[in-house]
Amino acid sequence: MASGGVKRALIFLGPPGAGKGTQAMQVARVQGVPHLSTGDMFRDHVGRGSELGLRAKPIMERGELVPDEIVLGMVEERVARPDCANGFVLDGFPRTIPQAQGLDALLGRRGFGKALVLHIAVEYEKLLRRLTGRRTCATCGEIYNIYARAPKVEGKCDKDGGELTQRKDDREEVIRERIAAYDRQTKPLIEYYRAQSGLVDIDGAADADAVTREVLVTLARL
Ligand SMILES: [Zn+2]
Repeated sequence: MASGGVKRALIFLGPPGAGKGTQAMQVARVQGVPHLSTGDMFRDHVGRGSELGLRAKPIMERGELVPDEIVLGMVEERVARPDCANGFVLDGFPRTIPQAQGLDALLGRRGFGKALVLHIAVEYEKLLRRLTGRRTCATCGEIYNIYARAPKVEGKCDKDGGELTQRKDDREEVIRERIAAYDRQTKPLIEYYRAQSGLVDIDGAADADAVTREVLVTLARL
């Protein structure tokens, strides 16, 4: 067990394109604690037909948002399992202030200290370039970035000459909307956790490995 991971919830916050999913997984692996995603919890509950799963399933099938009470119930059940006793990493949760308040309450009930939030900060223009510059090979699925990792021949895969395409989700207008949605909904969480003095800013501008190193150095110091 690495230092800093004891009996704590680690939360990663950051805009789309900041790489928080990758960081959450890496840090959980190095710290030897579970990586918890609400998507996995939904699949697990629906799969085994638990009470929460049976309630969530029709809501998800209608394409609606599952109420916080159900999500928090799944999180609470998950963190009560023995593998979370020394801490865990939450990925993609909480996303709103009410979810953060619910999480605070359940962490208290389960004997965990205050959550530690790692805020992966990346400036707006850099995010846009990361996301709008992404191109995928239609043949082998290799991912390029026209700004940061351009193919040798424009529009062609280095490996097989396959055509490089942009996903619909990566078009600039879609990206701007995703970042705006993050600003509206999730950015207030940064201030919420900062006010609790449980937030650390991490510079997410560097490549993923360098960001992981910074996160681990930060955790070791706490
Ligand atoms: Zn290819």
